[in-house]
Amino acid sequence: MNPHASIRSALGLLALLAAMPAAAAPAGAALVPPDGARFLVDQRFDIRIEGQASGAATSRLWVDGRQAAFSSGAQGTTTTDGISSAGWAGFNLRGTALAHPGWHTVTAEIADSTGAATVSSRIQVIDPFNRRKGAHRLTKNIVIMLGDGMGIAHRTAARIVRYGVTAGDPNGQLEMDRFPGTGLVSTHSLNSIITDSAPGMACYSTGNHASNGQEGVYPAHVANPFFAPRVEYLAEYLHRVKGTSLGLVTTADVEDATPAANAVHTANRNSGTGIVDQYLDESDSSGSGRCGTGLRVLMGGGRRWFLPATGLHSSRTAATGYPALPRDLLDGWNLPAAPAAQGAATRDLISEFKGAGFAYAATRADLKAAADGKATDRLLGLFGYGNMNVALDKIARRRGTLPPGASTFAVDDYLAPDQPMLDEMADAAFTVLSRGRGGFVLMVEGAHIDKQSHLMDADRTIGETLEFDRAVGVARRWADRLGDTTVLVLADHECSGFSLIGALSLSGGVQALKDLPSDAGALSPGVVPARQNAVGTYDLAGFPDYHILADGYPATMDIDHKMLVGFGASSDRYESWLAKPTPVIDSLLPVEFKDAGGLLGAKGYATIPGLRDIDKNGFFVRGQLNGEGQAVHTATDVPVSAYSSGSRAWIRFVGAQKNTDVFFKLATAALSGDLPDDLGRDDY
Ligand SMILES: [Zn+2]
Repeated sequence: MNPHASIRSALGLLALLAAMPAAAAPAGAALVPPDGARFLVDQRFDIRIEGQASGAATSRLWVDGRQAAFSSGAQGTTTTDGISSAGWAGFNLRGTALAHPGWHTVTAEIADSTGAATVSSRIQVIDPFNRRKGAHRLTKNIVIMLGDGMGIAHRTAARIVRYGVTAGDPNGQLEMDRFPGTGLVSTHSLNSIITDSAPGMACYSTGNHASNGQEGVYPAHVANPFFAPRVEYLAEYLHRVKGTSLGLVTTADVEDATPAANAVHTANRNSGTGIVDQYLDESDSSGSGRCGTGLRVLMGGGRRWFLPATGLHSSRTAATGYPALPRDLLDGWNLPAAPAAQGAATRDLISEFKGAGFAYAATRADLKAAADGKATDRLLGLFGYGNMNVALDKIARRRGTLPPGASTFAVDDYLAPDQPMLDEMADAAFTVLSRGRGGFVLMVEGAHIDKQSHLMDADRTIGETLEFDRAVGVARRWADRLGDTTVLVLADHECSGFSLIGALSLSGGVQALKDLPSDAGALSPGVVPARQNAVGTYDLAGFPDYHILADGYPATMDIDHKMLVGFGASSDRYESWLAKPTPVIDSLLPVEFKDAGGLLGAKGYATIPGLRDIDKNGFFVRGQLNGEGQAVHTATDVPVSAYSSGSRAWIRFVGAQKNTDVFFKLATAALSGDLPDDLGRDDY
């Protein structure tokens, strides 16, 4: 055995023992930031130690062996501190930062009448500033194109549908395929190999892992999800350091995890009312540059949260709002005094955004007018009550052609007939953000790549990836126009185990597929359902040839030789292989839209994705999961594609990397821009 290895393992054991609280000490003693956390020089974060104390608790804190002090917590009394959960004692140091690069040790002790627990975290601080001589081009604008749930197969499927293949060669490449830098990114969260979208995005925007369901915070036992210990976002850091603005664009409800994980600090991604309130309350729209996110553009669905509870299709409730933030949080993060209406169900947030100087757009027509207005430098766009509709349903309405089997247009049924496409939203965001000084961070999310993969709707998923790729093209053209802009195409995780298994292989094509007898009952391994035999693999798959119309989308997804998709992370489902006429009712909608007998249910929209093909002769596919008819995220790595104008910052993203690395690479590109030739193996 290698003697160094045994010394290392002995040291590891000692570290482990040091980290373990003594048996009689407060139970569940835990310290955040967790061991191994990484920060930029001067990036702010909260330190918290907590435990289930019996009686009064006390605490002590050391940073690199020097005594420090917590800024809040009920020291030596049993009085509640108003921050910790019932039964928990906690001590916080808010908004602290470390100035010196390298490794640091934070040690904290929590004690009660039964004893004391001491916990340490080793923390690395990374210097994003190039202190070497020489003129280097900084990345002024950072653009993250986030294809939610988009794995490699999603990209391949979109390319085959959009461009086709001749004699083995693709007839064209997606916009994202044409980016010069390609790498792989791991996707873990703080508490699982499989992340959800909240920590999936937050690892790119904070450089830190969060637990599933949480964004911009560390896990803690606190009385309200908005009291959790914070870590500073890239947008907040750059806004504070150099006056950068923030834009968030999504096809989801804007309360959803991916947009919120750039600007909102909460331990509950479902706190819709509080999430949208915090967008405004911490936007620092006064432009003082001292605090907040610098939010200037917010676009997507989710109007329901911005309307007072008395308004039609409002979802605002005090239950998902947030109370006044604790004093230590306000002081530590230099947050503005809370507005009187914060978190209230009666708050009229659209009016408040307008009062803060935002132009408001509710439709595609509004959006064009607002972006064209030369004075518009702040923009709120809310194009649906909950999630926006998907690309194929928006396009169907624009074409005036009902999908086969549909009797109404989905966008009409969602009460949002005039919704923009994601590329139009992205273009408006660039137009508005480029009017500001100091550069910007812009996140553009193709949200339904994930949501339609969950719902095992292969055709709508591919349509979403096509829509997303058009937005990527917009980003690249704006990057060239503006200069000094780095664009990343990323995913937060893969969704559904999406796999391209073959193509429809029936003489007689789609009509023959429709004419096959029902085999919904065929379950025995020895019985081959007719629709299983319809899958042509290898040579029989050949090269599916879709007809693309002038709008950039296929005339129909049901071609005679259509590409067929399997789901490797699925629950049970019935599969007809045919395009579904209407979308499944998804979760982020006002209750009166999605409830049984609600607006959409009454029009025949399905609620359980796995069952919707049961009456269309779908064959039964046994899934691996008890997933209530949905597919789930997977742990596979995701691709990153990078492009930069004005520098070669994209080179940083080539190769395999941890998801949190992306944050440090972006910050370094923005603040240092050191020459790629200087890049060492451990550089960011
Ligand atoms: Zn998802």
